[in-house]
Amino acid sequence: MLTSPAALNLLFASTKEDPQRWRRLLEPALPQDRLFAWPDVNGGDIDVALVATHPQGTFAQLPRLKLIQSLWMGVENILADTEVPRGVPLARLIDPGMVHAMAETVIASVLDWHRQRHVYRAQQRARLWKWQTQLLPSDRTVGLLGLGELGSYAAARLLALGFKVCGWSRRPRTIDGVHCSTDLDEILSQSQAVVCLLPLTAQTRGVLNARALARMPRGGCIINVARGAHLVMPDLIAALDSGQLAHAYLDVFETEPLPADSPLWAHPGITVTPHIAALTEPRTAVPKIVENIERVRRGEVPLNLVDFSAGY
Ligand code: NAP
Repeated sequence: MLTSPAALNLLFASTKEDPQRWRRLLEPALPQDRLFAWPDVNGGDIDVALVATHPQGTFAQLPRLKLIQSLWMGVENILADTEVPRGVPLARLIDPGMVHAMAETVIASVLDWHRQRHVYRAQQRARLWKWQTQLLPSDRTVGLLGLGELGSYAAARLLALGFKVCGWSRRPRTIDGVHCSTDLDEILSQSQAVVCLLPLTAQTRGVLNARALARMPRGGCIINVARGAHLVMPDLIAALDSGQLAHAYLDVFETEPLPADSPLWAHPGITVTPHIAALTEPRTAVPKIVENIERVRRGEVPLNLVDFSAGY
């Protein structure tokens, strides 16, 4: 005899993501389940929490959770919540649309620096008609800090454009065409452009400091699309002002939104974007979330689980 699959209670809990936008895609994909939106926690009877910057106190009210599914790729603010039940699996979202968007942002920034468009923008403001030296992509090495989902995909796209690519990871990695190393100094010393795609952990906080920036060849650029706390801002400013760095592309900041009176907005060596390097794309994310919910329904281990001890 066929039995109908168990219905699950899902909770959407986010201070940043719009529940209606997700509801339109999640409900047709999970017709047997019930989707609640914080603060309606169905009396605590919730099986799966879908979270991105969740409201404080969310987890204290969810004693029967089987899965915490992040709606974002970075999970440091979930891990920082001491109420997160350590026995409940926490899954990251690996959203193909977001991975692609991040590669586009990395390429846009690398090309802006490589084609010296940041220099030509300054020349335009000064009404200066002057050619800069043109280099080939193969004259440049781009170093990726982090060779995970985002870093490894961006690496492939940069290789396709003709750049030399190297990258740093915690454990040894092999990626076709990419010089991979677990030695940060080795990667920094050969990278004219450094792209930060690390998770924020105790080990990676402040990794881009004066010492690290000094290891890079003079005149390079930093592209920080991971988290603001990876980069020590006074050290970056000093490196830009001394000419050690030519430019910095900053998408993420320790305080977001970046305060209107921050000197970073007007620094000639900095391009600021408002944490948009890669936004979650519900159309490509929902199938991945549904896959994990179906795994919970079948009693299987969900995909993309966070290693609590590693912090990502
Ligand atoms: P991931 O798949 O977990 O990959 C992380 C990479 O960093 C791995 O290669 C890992 O090494 C490496 N790593 C971690 N700790 C390290 C350490 N101590 N030393 C050296 N390497 C270390 O992460 P992802 O999905 O690529 O995402 C990376 C981060 O991007 C997220 O955590 C998030 O903060 C950020 N992000 C930003 C935006 C935005 O819009 N700005 C959007 C999405 C994500 P192993 O390979 O050895 O594990």
